[in-house]
Amino acid sequence: MTDASTTPAAAPRSQGPDAASPFFRAGGRNRFTARRGRVIAVEQVAPVLLRVRLTGPDFADFSSGGPADHVKVFFPDPGSGELVAPTAAGPGEDGIVRPDGPTLARDFTPLRVTRTTDGVALDIDFYLHPSPGPASGWASRAQAGDELVVVGPRGSRGAPQGAARLVLVCDETALPSATRWAAEVPATTTVDLIAVTAGDGSWVAEYVSSTSGRDDVRMHLLPPDDPDALVPAVDAVGVDPATFLFAAGEASTLIPLRRHLKRTLALPAEQVSVNGYWKRGTAAFDHHAPIDPSDPD
Ligand SMILES: Cc1cc2nc3c(=O)[nH]c(=O)nc-3n(C[C@H](O)[C@H](O)[C@H](O)COP(=O)(O)OP(=O)(O)OC[C@H]3O[C@@H](n4cnc5c(N)ncnc54)[C@H](O)[C@@H]3O)c2cc1C
Repeated sequence: MTDASTTPAAAPRSQGPDAASPFFRAGGRNRFTARRGRVIAVEQVAPVLLRVRLTGPDFADFSSGGPADHVKVFFPDPGSGELVAPTAAGPGEDGIVRPDGPTLARDFTPLRVTRTTDGVALDIDFYLHPSPGPASGWASRAQAGDELVVVGPRGSRGAPQGAARLVLVCDETALPSATRWAAEVPATTTVDLIAVTAGDGSWVAEYVSSTSGRDDVRMHLLPPDDPDALVPAVDAVGVDPATFLFAAGEASTLIPLRRHLKRTLALPAEQVSVNGYWKRGTAAFDHHAPIDPSDPD
């Protein structure tokens, strides 16, 4: 595509720490609506990640101003092919109308918004995980012309512009977000990525540099399913008072790391963001549920 540009941040609005804090993250609300889009491109961007590009007139005012933004994506029923999803409350209006029937929806990171003379397109990178549900299963079969409905992002919070260091702890589902974090902090912010991946992970560095546009992200690979490995990995990289840390992946695996950051290192909340993106054995995990039920936020 030509004359592409990425979406501007949502209108800044004060959230969280004071604007003078190095960890201040400008934020704002986006128009909250349901957008129906059709697939115009499918690309295998890594052995286990599939990039799907969606477009349609509904996306004309789509915006996403933060690296941890998420959209709720509604998928067709794998059996009937019927796509049951919310609709927009009205042209240009804020709000959605929920359908009567059951829906199949999962959370995804709006990776990139591209504006061209042909319209606005949204890229989403799907991890083709080993126990595919409606989302991963749909992605593995996706082709041009398929339709999805995207709701959100409701709000956006930008990356901190004053942190000297950024430490990212991400599994495959959070690597799309990791590439946004790397791209959306200043070039002077040093970035360490602890990538939790199955297999040899040799593709991660290339994926991160080609997607983020940064080739200076320091990579640290960790195998999955070892909660005890995350704390030493983060300690080895180091978290100092100038570091912002974002972690996302399998919720239970993140519990020891969250405890370490909160209790042992006693990091202020403004410096840390730990997020359960999925939970082993749970379909459609609600990421608003506490990661550590014994110690909710
Ligand atoms: C804010 C946010 C942003 C996200 N961004 C992305 C993104 O950009 N790309 C992306 O691929 N995912 C992303 N995810 C994760 C994605 O929503 C989940 O992996 C989702 O469960 C996939 O839906 P599904 O229909 O394939 O599986 P589900 O029907 O939800 O689950 C079916 C089974 O698969 C298991 N499962 C789910 N995810 C995984 C996994 N990663 N590895 C192994 N087993 C799994 C479940 O535990 C369950 O047993 C994000 C999640 C959140 C909360």
